[in-house]
Amino acid sequence: MEEKLDDRLNKTVELIKKAKGFFALTGAGISTESGLPDFRSPGTGIWEKVDPIKTSSAQVLKSNPRLFFEAGFKRFITLQDAQPNKGHYALAKMEKMNILKGIVTQNIDGLHYKAGSRNIWEVHGHLRTGHCIECGRSYPFEYMVEQLDHGHNPPFCENCSGIVRPDVVLFGDPMGKAFFEAERTLANECDLLLVVGSSLTVYPVASLPQYVSKIVIINLQPTPYDDRAEVVFREKSGSILSKLLQLLEK
Ligand SMILES: [Zn+2]
Repeated sequence: MEEKLDDRLNKTVELIKKAKGFFALTGAGISTESGLPDFRSPGTGIWEKVDPIKTSSAQVLKSNPRLFFEAGFKRFITLQDAQPNKGHYALAKMEKMNILKGIVTQNIDGLHYKAGSRNIWEVHGHLRTGHCIECGRSYPFEYMVEQLDHGHNPPFCENCSGIVRPDVVLFGDPMGKAFFEAERTLANECDLLLVVGSSLTVYPVASLPQYVSKIVIINLQPTPYDDRAEVVFREKSGSILSKLLQLLEK
C-alpha cells in the first residue's frame, strides 16, 4: 500500500540528510510546469504532433539542412522563452545550501541554469550556443536565429561558410562529453539520486540510475525503476520539490 504523502516526504528528507553524494536527474516532466510540453506524456507530448526524427535529427541536418532549420529548429526557438518554475528554483536552492551536489538533465531548455543551478550536466546539450560543422567555430544561439531571419537557411559560418548547428544532441548524434562526465560522477560519488520528471526510458540516460544504490522518483507516470526506488511520488514535481526544500530548511 502506498504510504501517505507526509511519510514519503519525511522519509526522503531523512535519506537526503544521510546521503554522502546527493544528485538529481531531471527530464521533461520538471519543465511541463513552465508551460513546456512533456515529449512523452500520453496525449500531450509534442512527439505525437511533430515527428522529431523527420525534422530535427542528425540525419535530416546532414541530408536536408533547410528542412532541419525550417521545421525542427523552430521547436528550439520556442523553448528559449521558457522560464524556470518552483521545482527548478528548489533544486537551485538545495545546491546553494550545499545539500545537492549536482544535476544531470536530459532537458535542453536551460531552465536549471536560469534558476541559478551551476553544477549541471546538460547531457542532451543546450540552446545557448552553436558551432560550425566544418571548422568548429563557436557562435551564440542567436546567431543562427538572426541568419534565418535574414533568409540565410541554413545559417553559415563567417570563417569557412560551413553550416552552423545548435549545440544540442540530436537524434542520431553521439552523446557528448557531459554525458560521460555525468556517468563517471554518478558512479563514483552518488549514493542518492533524485529522479524528477523523467520516464527513464530514453537511453543511454535511462541507464544512469543503475550506478546508484538509492533512488527516489518524482514522476507522474510509472518508470521501469519504480520497484527498486526507496520512495516514489506520483505528484507534480514543483510542489514536491518545494515541500522537500521547506523540510530541509527547518
Ligand atoms: Zn566554419
